[in-house]
Amino acid sequence: MLFDGKTTAAHILQALEKENILLREEYGRVPCLSVVLVGEDYGSTRYVASCEKNAQRAGLDCRVVRLPESSSEEDVLSTIYSLNEDNNVDGILVQMPLPKHIRQERIVLAISPEKDVDGVTDANVSQLWKQKHNNYSQFCVPCTPRSVMRILKEAEIDLDGRDTVVIGRSNIVGMPVSKLLLNENATVTVCHSHTKDLTALLRQADIIVAAIGKPKFVSAEMVKEGAVVVDVGINTDPATGKMCGDVDTEAVAPKCRLITPVPGGVGQLTICSLMENTMDCFKRLHHG
Ligand code: NAD
Repeated sequence: MLFDGKTTAAHILQALEKENILLREEYGRVPCLSVVLVGEDYGSTRYVASCEKNAQRAGLDCRVVRLPESSSEEDVLSTIYSLNEDNNVDGILVQMPLPKHIRQERIVLAISPEKDVDGVTDANVSQLWKQKHNNYSQFCVPCTPRSVMRILKEAEIDLDGRDTVVIGRSNIVGMPVSKLLLNENATVTVCHSHTKDLTALLRQADIIVAAIGKPKFVSAEMVKEGAVVVDVGINTDPATGKMCGDVDTEAVAPKCRLITPVPGGVGQLTICSLMENTMDCFKRLHHG
């Protein structure tokens, strides 16, 4: 079964749009996401354009602050400080990567944890790691991990005690996904570039989450019959020049109970998670 991210995303955005009509009636405004874009990186510019488009579909206010590539660290920091203070901004997303002369860690530290829609601040990362149960009402779960969990939930995949292998241990995908899966009582093995026999581990897995960044890395021989495969990767296929995931979807799909395609899977829902996180920030602001 091929997960249909486009249709699921359309349903989520429709539901958000309805909710935002009610929020406007009640509070006189809709939640507002502010995206800080420094420079003109092609991928980032496209992603931010997609944020604006999807925010519009969800009935959310989205304001993009565009800063030139030559901006100093202090310029970016002062932008974030003023967004932190702005009572009409609920969520702040600083688009990464930043130009090399700007230290990412310093920028992330400056974002107010209450407006951290991507769950990247130290405060929110530690909240996630301290959480023993799946109650994330007081902070934002990072968008991509949130969308991975959403897909598993939508597809009614039972996670309790299931053998789950996460490939990748980055702070933005692999690690938070692993923690979220643990909180659902899955048995989680986190693999990385030093893992000795990845194939043996994958062949036993009921659920695989691939966040590696290597085109079509997971082949059909690595996956057991009936597995659920969530492909987070966004790569360029060297053979075709087209976008592809970390999984060889065409070869792996016939063996799977569920597989997410690239494009059209996790990525579709990640932007929805961003909108949902912005709405959650807005609601916490008004209801605590
Ligand atoms: P990263 O480079 O930070 O992490 C990659 C991980 O893969 C590392 O932990 C590394 O140890 C592991 N790895 C590399 N080679 C391996 C191997 N041979 N065997 C086992 N593990 C190996 O990347 P990231 O930021 O976590 O992103 C991973 C992928 O997900 C990328 O393709 C990225 O573009 C994509 N991504 C997608 C979304 C989305 O919304 N769909 C969001 C973020 C990232």
